[in-house]
Parts: sequence; C-alpha cells; structure tokens
Amino acid sequence: MVVVMNETATEEQIQKVIAKLVEMNFDVHRSTGVNQTLLGGIGDHRNIDTRNFELLDGVHEVLRVTTPYKLASRAFHPENTVVKIGDVVLGGETVAVMAGPCSVETQEQMEIIAAAVKKAGAQILRAGAFKPRTSPYSFQGLGEPALKILQTVAKREGMLTVSEVMEVAQLPLLLEYVDILQVGARNMQNFNLLRELGKCRKPVLLKRGLAATIEELLMAAEYLMAGGNYQVILCERGIRTFENATRNTLDISAIPVVHKLSHLPIIADPSHGTGRRDKVAPMARAAVAAGADGLIIEVHHDPDNALSDGAQSLFPTQFSALMDELRMIAQVIGRKL
Ligand code: PEP
Ligand code: MN
Repeated sequence: MVVVMNETATEEQIQKVIAKLVEMNFDVHRSTGVNQTLLGGIGDHRNIDTRNFELLDGVHEVLRVTTPYKLASRAFHPENTVVKIGDVVLGGETVAVMAGPCSVETQEQMEIIAAAVKKAGAQILRAGAFKPRTSPYSFQGLGEPALKILQTVAKREGMLTVSEVMEVAQLPLLLEYVDILQVGARNMQNFNLLRELGKCRKPVLLKRGLAATIEELLMAAEYLMAGGNYQVILCERGIRTFENATRNTLDISAIPVVHKLSHLPIIADPSHGTGRRDKVAPMARAAVAAGADGLIIEVHHDPDNALSDGAQSLFPTQFSALMDELRMIAQVIGRKL
C-alpha cells in the first residue's frame, strides 16, 4: 500500500500516518519528492480498509499495490488451474462446452436436447432444476425430479452435468446429482452459500454478478478457495450497463483481464450475456477468440414453448453450426474444441 501525502502535509501529519502504519505491522518506506512525500507500507493488508488512511489529516490518496485476494491470484499461483472432471478439462488446451436448456421441463425434452448437443460436440449438459426468476409467478424449476432427469439423460449420453444451487439447503441434493455446482449471478455474493461450497470437493461454476466488478468476482472465488475448494470455474455472463439493446452487456474483455489477474479458468455465457438468440453465435465466437476456456450455451428444440429463456436459446441446428465455427476459431488460436 502506498500513502500519498498532500503537498502541504506537515511533518507532524506524516509522522501520524507512519505511526498508524507501524501500529498495523507495516514496514514503512518513506520517499520524499520535490513536492510530495510517499509512504510505502509493506505487509499484509488483506484485512485493511484503506479508507481509514484516507481520512487521516494530510493524506492525498491511498493506493493498493497488491490484490485483496490471494488464493485466486496469479501472483500466488502462476500456473493455470486445470479443472479435470472425468475426461473433461477446463483451463487446458481444450475449450469445453456446456449446453442444454435453461430449465429441465420433461424427460422427453431433455432426451431430445441432450442427444443434439452431444452430437454437436458439447461435453457437459446444462439445465436448471432450481431457477432464480425475477418474478415469483414465473416457472421456478421442477426441483429434485428435474435433477433425476438431468442425471439419467446425461448418463445415457455420456455427458457431465451442471446445475444451479440457489441456497445452502439445496446443496445435499445437488451434490447427489450433478458434477458441477453452478452459483448464479444473483448469488455471487451469497457468502453463506460460498462458504458451504468451499467445504465441498466438487467443481463450482461461479457466475459474475449482475453489477459485480472483476475484483468482486475474484473475491467471491477467494471465499470458495479459502474453504479449501480449489476447483473453481469463473463465468462471464454479462453485466448491467446503460445499454438496453441486449439483456446484459457481455464483457468479453473480462476474459483476458481475469487471465492476467488469476490462474482460474473462465468461461463465457453468451446466452444470458445477450438474451437474444441471434446475438449468441457472434458473442460465442468472440469469447473463444478472446481466450475463453469454455462456453455455456442455452439450447432448446422448441424454444417458443420453453418454460424459461426461450428467446435466447439456440435451435439445435444453430448450435451445431456454431460448434463447427468455434472449432475453426479454436484452431487459429492454438486450442482445441
Ligand atoms: C441460468 O444459467 O439459467 C441463469 C439463471 O444464469 P444467471 O445466474 O447468469 O442469470
Ligand atoms: Mn437461463
């Protein structure tokens, strides 16, 4: 941490800041320039609120020079984290694809969609059993029967599964049925849920919150890792901006930013990121080109009658054509799909 003093700061004010830094176990390095004094504090400031220094008399600003997260940071772990689940690898050379409907509706629906996405090359079947809906009157998911269907159909197709856990009480059920536990955007900062998931030894797909910064996403990952669960897959799923031409604004730049700051794999969700079927393929292509370690895409055989997110679900033929394009893009950037 660096404390930049005002040009007019008195020696007494500088000494007060030094004393506070020392009190907090920092080694203090003072540099006096022509106009200003800088105080470098070397030590552990994960637990320090820099605003407490900003409030001291004579202080101009306080800059953090290290990140508040450690386990999720690339500085702490320079090698990429590779999450291996059966034959599927996330964070390696291969771009992994998760696909399926927003929600499990019926066994027949899941059989049709699973067969189609598997044939097109998806390895992981996605579908929600517990749905976080804006309206309490919208379809909320079928719960345990949905998880049973998801598991049965995925097994038959030789696929892995991912599904959302909305609250701690649902965790035992999800652990029984799915391979990857999804934390939805609305729950990214549900710290009780994160703490419980930190105790699990199953991969967690952690979606970026609707209005979360990348640092907040990495701090949420830190919760999981602080509990000992290092199998964390991040997901850029679009954020709230002033733009309303799309449901959310898919922050493609978050992919290279996260790759620089963290060793964790990051995938993209162009379905929730755009909310419109016709925008999904261009953004999926862009995400792979930007280095995404995977994608999660909603696909439905009859989207007009889907119980949730039909407008952003690809038809199986569109998904299959997209996978062909993604294979070419992956090859160009030295990856496989
Ligand atoms: C979903 O994956 O269907 C979902 C609800 O995602 P998000 O949490 O990103 O809105
Ligand atoms: Mn959805």
